Order: sequence, then C-alpha cells, then structure tokens
Amino acid sequence: MMADERKCLLSSAQLNKHEKHKKPNNTVTHGGIELARQKTIFVCQNCGYKAPKWLGRCPGCGVWNSFVEELTEIAHQDRGRRQHPLVRPQRIDKVAIEKEVRQKTGLSEFDRTLGGGVVPGSLVLIGGDPGIGKSTLILQVVQRLAKRGLRTLYISGEESVQQIKMRAERISADSSELYLLSGTCLEDVIDRIDEISPRIIVVDSIQTIFTDSLSSAPGSIGQVREVTNRLMNLAKVSGIAIFLIGHVTKDGAIAGPKVLEHSVDTVLYFEGDGSHMYRILRSVKNRYGPTNEIGVFEMMDNGLEEVGNPSRIFLEERSMDVSGSVVIPCMEGSRPILVEIQALVCDSSLAIPRRTTIGVDPNRVSLLAAVLAKRGGVNLSDKDIFINVAGGIKIDEPAIDLGIISTTASSFLNKPIARNTVIFGEVGLSGEVRGVSQTELRLKEAVKLGFSRSLISKKSIKILKGKIDMEVIGVSSIQELLEVVF
Ligand SMILES: [Zn+2]
Repeated sequence: MMADERKCLLSSAQLNKHEKHKKPNNTVTHGGIELARQKTIFVCQNCGYKAPKWLGRCPGCGVWNSFVEELTEIAHQDRGRRQHPLVRPQRIDKVAIEKEVRQKTGLSEFDRTLGGGVVPGSLVLIGGDPGIGKSTLILQVVQRLAKRGLRTLYISGEESVQQIKMRAERISADSSELYLLSGTCLEDVIDRIDEISPRIIVVDSIQTIFTDSLSSAPGSIGQVREVTNRLMNLAKVSGIAIFLIGHVTKDGAIAGPKVLEHSVDTVLYFEGDGSHMYRILRSVKNRYGPTNEIGVFEMMDNGLEEVGNPSRIFLEERSMDVSGSVVIPCMEGSRPILVEIQALVCDSSLAIPRRTTIGVDPNRVSLLAAVLAKRGGVNLSDKDIFINVAGGIKIDEPAIDLGIISTTASSFLNKPIARNTVIFGEVGLSGEVRGVSQTELRLKEAVKLGFSRSLISKKSIKILKGKIDMEVIGVSSIQELLEVVF
C-alpha cells in the first residue's frame, strides 16, 4: 500500500516534471500546437509594462513610442551563467592592485583625450555627426597600434573591406597586423574574433550591428543596448580594447550614443562642422581618466593631423582692431586654449530682439546682456546681439562671461578692445566679477602667445603665486571693467 502510494506520488511528480518540460512557462501554445520559444519581450521604458509585441502606446502609463525589445529574464539567466566566471568576495587588504598598462597610439592628441593611452579591456564609444571623420580618425589610431604589433580587427557594417582598404590607402594605413571584416551579425562577428584573437577591435558603427536573439531592427534601442552589453562583456572577459563608433541622430535620443553612455567605459565626442577644417575630440565620460580633455585635429587630404598648439590656430585669422572682438583663455580639460569671441550688436527690427550665438549657450548670452543693461547702463533692449566663437569650437564655462560682456559692449560702443589684452572671469547677476579656476595657467598661455595685458577678477590676483610676465589688472564689477577697457 505504502509502496503503491509512493509509486503513485513518483509518477505524479514525473508527470509534473514531464508536463513542465513539455510546457515551459515561456512557451506559447496555440490550439494544441507548440510555437517557437519566445525569448524576447517588449518593455515600456517609462513604467516597465511588459507586452509580447510592440505597442505604439503603453497601456500602463499612456506614453507613446516607449516600447523597447529586451531579452526575457530566462534568456538572460542562461546567458549570464555561461559568460560570467565565478567570482568570490575578497577582503580589501588582500586585493592586489594591478598597475594598468596603457597602450600609447603615438597620436598624442588622441592619447591625452583617453587619459594617457588605450586601456586593455576597455569599451570606448566615439560619437559624432555622420561624415565628421570618425572612421578616418579611428583607422589612423588602429593603424598605429597595429604597427606596434597589436593585432587589430576593424569590423565594418557600413563598408566593404575593399572600401575600407581604399580609405586606408588614402591615409597610408598598412600593416600586417590590421585585419578588416565586413559584417553585421554579432554572433558571426564574435566567431571571427575567436579565430584571429585580436587585442584591439573597432566596430563601425554600433547602429549597423545586430544580434540574432532580438527580432527588432539593427539600430533600434533594444539592439544597440544588447549588442553593447555583449561587447562590454567580451572586453572585460578577454581584455580586448573595443572602440565603438556611434552616429548621433539629430535629436540625440533615438538609438544615438546617448542611450549607450552609461554602459560603456569611455565616451568621446568628435565635434566640428563641415565648413571648418578643425575637429575636436572631447572626452565626456572616462572611467580611466579625466573628462573634458580635448584633442584638436585638422582635416587634411591624407587624413587627420594633430594640432599641437590650438591657441595659435584659433587666433590665426583674427582681424586687426575691430570692435566686438576679444580673446579669452578658456580651459579645455587640463589645458588652456585661447579663443576669440566676436560680437555684433545692431538695431533690431523685431518686437523681441534676437540673441543668436554660435559656440556658446544663448541663454547665458541673454542673461549677460540683461546684466550689462542693468548694471553697466548699456541699453540693449532694442538691439539684436550675435555672438560667435571663432574657429568652430564650443565653450561651456563661466570664465567666458567677462569676455562676452566686454565684446558686446565693444560692439555696442563701436570701440575696439586693445589687441594685446585677454579678459576672463565669471559674472554674477549683480554685476560682480568672480574668480575662476586655473587663473595662472590661463595667464601663462596668454603670455606664451604674446599677450601683455589681462583683465581678471580682483580676488584672483591675490591667489597668483608665480610671477606672470604681463600687466594684470583686477576688476570687481562690470562698471569697473567698462571704465578700464573703454
Ligand atoms: Zn508605460
């Protein structure tokens, strides 16, 4: 009797097991016919609502276009177990710090932007507008690394290997350690990576690569995110340094590099507009070094060339003794760069006068114009103001405030600012002039380029330690500034 019961229990357990095996909870049955195993699910990025297929509007929160395809939990668990080696917690005093070995590319502008070279096992995203020269830059970089004996694989989903070769010939990139591969399927690509075991990989571009495990189109948020996560995994497990190229879409949001910024180690943006020869590589995130470092390049027929002294270039075409022009030493990462800021103030025919800017924040300019009107007595309420940073560089630091104020006043009064003068400092709403960081470094750069006079905040003068070989004038308010300058 007891044995029978056990047998019965056993068989029911077996039956249950069988049932479970036959019908795992991620299998869809339809009219008794088992359909393919469903591995992905669409998740609302706003509220987390899950749906088996894509929906235009989320039933959970009512937001439009918020669904992104993701792998289901089960698929994720399978993958996770296979790829992660077992790690144990370690006592902090037992953790050995390995000195990271950086690989220098020899392109010093690029190395500096990365924080001193390429870190093995790092995932670096290079973003920028299409056609700005990202592929050219990275090809030049990996060609140098390959020449140093590091096996490199350049994977392109956009060009054939012949096209890459032609581009490489233009910039005379040629090395026996540089491999080219044209492909778009991540799984295929990873097989090829195993075959040649490179130390450096380039993926051009992340938007063209897709994984088989998701059904959504290449370039969609789900795909881009999943492919990036897998490449990140590959980089960490194998120690291969991977460069991803990502195109910024106009609105920056849809599958643009913005989505990826948090899941990679380093984000570099390649900036500049088509009409200028200069390109700026800027680090906006760096797990292995300082951010906001920049590298300056010049686009030539045979590729990008480093610009060793950017200040000289940005001031090269400065016009002589014209009103509405001033030079500012601004900090880009750890180094000072001198740029010219131009202003044009003219009568407005509009009810609301324009505040148009290139290279600086228009809101900042509106604010400074208001301060100049109220505290400096310069009436700009019926004037259009145009501000331009010469050379196509973008500046985002408060040190330019005083420069913007001076150049705007200069254009309004039609009186040029002395050519030998640099002006910088932050301006508050009550018209007070505040000190900014790295005053000494900025002044030294100005001296190096032949400037002999500077206007800065009074407080900054007190903290100057070294001897500066120029006339340094301190001002505490914009009224004082206007008196000294004009
Ligand atoms: Zn929702």
